[in-house]
Amino acid sequence: MLIKDINHLITILTLLITLNNNHLINDAQLLDFLSEIYYQPYPEFSKEALYFRYPNFDNFQKPTTTKIAIQIGHLIEGDIPFELRKLARGGGAIVNGIKEVEINKAIAFKIKEILEKENYYVEILPAIIPKDYYADIFISLHANSADEYTSGFMISTPFIDYSGKANKLKKIMIREYSKETKLRFINKVTSNMTHYYAFNWSKFKRAIHPKTPAIIIEMGNMRNKNDLNFLLNNQEKIAKGIIKGIKLFLEKN
Ligand SMILES: [Zn+2]
Repeated sequence: MLIKDINHLITILTLLITLNNNHLINDAQLLDFLSEIYYQPYPEFSKEALYFRYPNFDNFQKPTTTKIAIQIGHLIEGDIPFELRKLARGGGAIVNGIKEVEINKAIAFKIKEILEKENYYVEILPAIIPKDYYADIFISLHANSADEYTSGFMISTPFIDYSGKANKLKKIMIREYSKETKLRFINKVTSNMTHYYAFNWSKFKRAIHPKTPAIIIEMGNMRNKNDLNFLLNNQEKIAKGIIKGIKLFLEKN
């Protein structure tokens, strides 16, 4: 839970202690809630927030092993932490009984399988990622569900990118993905993409470290017949497009 100022913090603490005193939450639950409280007095994605949260940001030393992180959008594994409780409602698209998460998952594992054969180190992540997660490249896989007439894919970087590389990654990915899939690039982003929770280290603990070059990709539109057909039957091509983007980006860094 994001706390913006001291008064807000005092209100929340008082409430929690009252609940505990009245035996409405037990000690374990109290500690659980306390560990989820996140004091962030500065605006989301601001420089002040960055240095408040990561005082050593400028001296960040990246690990020596190059790691590629692929997130399966909407895949819930295990308990949902308090700060991400909204995820409990679910959220992935469902079209004709087909779940977005299943498409995301199939493609993620294809990417991993192919890249591992070429000795790349790939980590597959569910919807909830570890705290302050760093990778040399982070790609969140999704498929959207816009109107049935819209066909194409969308890519977004975080609202503000402190890795200095996300735009480059986006550009390369647009080119390689459209080359491989022949899908149209829709030059539009939504706030759900730019402020995607896993990008938002200024609001959540379980988010990428701001030095992580990250993008979210809506690989196609499930409500469009052709796109859905493509998402289900051309997963190899989709995976290849994303892999080409990944490899080119890593080569250039
Ligand atoms: Zn999604």
